[in-house]
Amino acid sequence: MADWRNWSGSVVAQPVAVGTPRSTDELRELVAGADRVRITGAGHSFMPLCETDGLLLHLSGMEGEIEVCDDGHSAWVPAGWPIHRLTPALWERGLSLANQGDIDKQAMAGALSTGTHGTGVTLGSISTQALAFRLVLADGSLVDCDATTEPDLFQAARLGLGMIGVMERVKLALQPAYRLKETLRKAPLEEILSQWDDLTARHRHVEFFIFPYADHALLKILDPIEVGDDQTATKDIEAGALQLVSDIAAALPFTAPALQRWLTAAMGPATRAAPAHKIFPSERATLFEEMEYEVPAAAGADALRAAIAEVRRRKFPIIFPLEFRTVAADDIWLSPMHAGPCVSISFHQYARMDWKQPFAAIEAVFAAAGGRPHWAKRHTLTSADVLRLYPNASRWGEARKLADPDAKFMNAHLSDLFAFSL
Ligand SMILES: Cc1cc2nc3c(=O)[nH]c(=O)nc-3n(C[C@H](O)[C@H](O)[C@H](O)COP(=O)(O)OP(=O)(O)OC[C@H]3O[C@@H](n4cnc5c(N)ncnc54)[C@H](O)[C@@H]3O)c2cc1C
Repeated sequence: MADWRNWSGSVVAQPVAVGTPRSTDELRELVAGADRVRITGAGHSFMPLCETDGLLLHLSGMEGEIEVCDDGHSAWVPAGWPIHRLTPALWERGLSLANQGDIDKQAMAGALSTGTHGTGVTLGSISTQALAFRLVLADGSLVDCDATTEPDLFQAARLGLGMIGVMERVKLALQPAYRLKETLRKAPLEEILSQWDDLTARHRHVEFFIFPYADHALLKILDPIEVGDDQTATKDIEAGALQLVSDIAAALPFTAPALQRWLTAAMGPATRAAPAHKIFPSERATLFEEMEYEVPAAAGADALRAAIAEVRRRKFPIIFPLEFRTVAADDIWLSPMHAGPCVSISFHQYARMDWKQPFAAIEAVFAAAGGRPHWAKRHTLTSADVLRLYPNASRWGEARKLADPDAKFMNAHLSDLFAFSL
């Protein structure tokens, strides 16, 4: 069996078998007959969530169609479809997702299972868009769950990292199809931070990218607009230039600060407008490793300043920018956005360069600010940390144990991290 690798190449797995079911019955049979199962979407997680020495399932080839519900603003969709397949199909039906992240390569189920998010103070993660699931449980049984039917199963699966069951279909809350106008401009970091509350109140989506050795950030604002269908790809960070400077920095790490200042100087203002699903995703061609913490909104600016100061103090040759976004609070048991508005601060490094040492240093900064990590991105939480940081972790653990008493859907990483639920 060929090795399986995640997007960045940092996780390599050797599943005993790979399953690509086409029908629900086939999926149920595969799950019921296996000792150990993990599911993968597009393999874009940095943590070893999809690692397994058992059966690895891919659902992208499953039969199924979009079924718009009678209310006109929700729909059952195949959970294994990548977002870039789902969103144009929704657009044809006059519907859009409420929000999306930086890319649209993820499977819908992969994005849902990890709390993947975009930016927007009033907008929760993609997990908050799920209204109901059709799950295949460890014994192969098929179950529908929502907030009132099998509510604990539903709550646990809303952000379940593939440990509750296999999402076969998902019912999503949707919005009438909308267009977005994207505005990119450069501004001093301190100016953006001083205007942050006003900017995020006035615009639907606001985020910025800041190279740790630069003083100016690239501000990205998305607002609803009535017209426009510009096909040009976004240039928030120019892909060719980033690849070039990343390769130079890998060979000559001391050049990272100067290269970053050069990249920042080259970033220019730009605008475009198009259907929302064409504006949200950007090209991310240069492989990186990523850590992201969701920090209480009030502590966000200082946590960012502290992270930048630490990179400069330790002279880490970081070649990628930090990304700063907002996410609305939610009530999901395992969500890092649980019970409080957050800013999300992402810290990246070129995949060919050392990321472990800088990530350890900056993780300490984010943790001290009261942060909780994005489950799909690099972190070093332990089972005790999960219990300490998540008030509903035990409840989630009970639901997991009930759904999968033999831990068929766990792997080594998950058994350690969620040891309290075994
Ligand atoms: C270039 C890049 C950009 C990114 N941008 C963002 C961003 O803007 N915002 C953000 O929040 N994150 C972002 N991420 C992280 C990414 O969204 C998550 O890692 C997401 O989980 C990836 O989806 P996937 O389909 O690749 O899932 P995978 O990594 O394949 O799987 C993720 C989890 O979902 C589970 N899963 C998959 N399918 C099913 C199913 N059918 N049923 C049950 N469980 C299932 C898996 O078991 C696993 O636990 C980015 C990652 C990369 C590499």
